[in-house]
Amino acid sequence: MTTTLTDLQYQMSNGNWTPCNDRSEAFVAECMVWRKLSRDEVIGALCAGKTLAYDSDWYSKIRSAPIARPMVHRPTHAPCPRCGASSPSRFTTIADGDICDDCV
Ligand SMILES: [Zn+2]
Repeated sequence: MTTTLTDLQYQMSNGNWTPCNDRSEAFVAECMVWRKLSRDEVIGALCAGKTLAYDSDWYSKIRSAPIARPMVHRPTHAPCPRCGASSPSRFTTIADGDICDDCV
C-alpha cells in the first residue's frame, strides 16, 4: 500500500485547515499516540476521508486534503445525435430527450 502524506492538513483554532507539509509525520505520530492506532490505521482512515483527532482540543484534528480525494463522477447525458453535445444542461426539453435544446 502506497501512502503519501504530502496532502495532510491540520485544523487551527480559527477553524481553518492548513497544510501540514513537512510536519505531516509529526502529526501522524501524535495521532497514533492519542488515538492508540497503528500508523497504517491512521493513514488508512485519512485516505478514507476521515478526520482524526490528535489531542483534546476541538480543533486538534488532521485530515487528508479534500482535493486529493477521487473526483466525484459527474453524470453526462448521452450525446445529442445531431451535434454531439453531452452536457446535462443542454437537455432540458421534455418533448424529445435524445436531442439537445439547441437542435430541437
Ligand atoms: Zn444537439
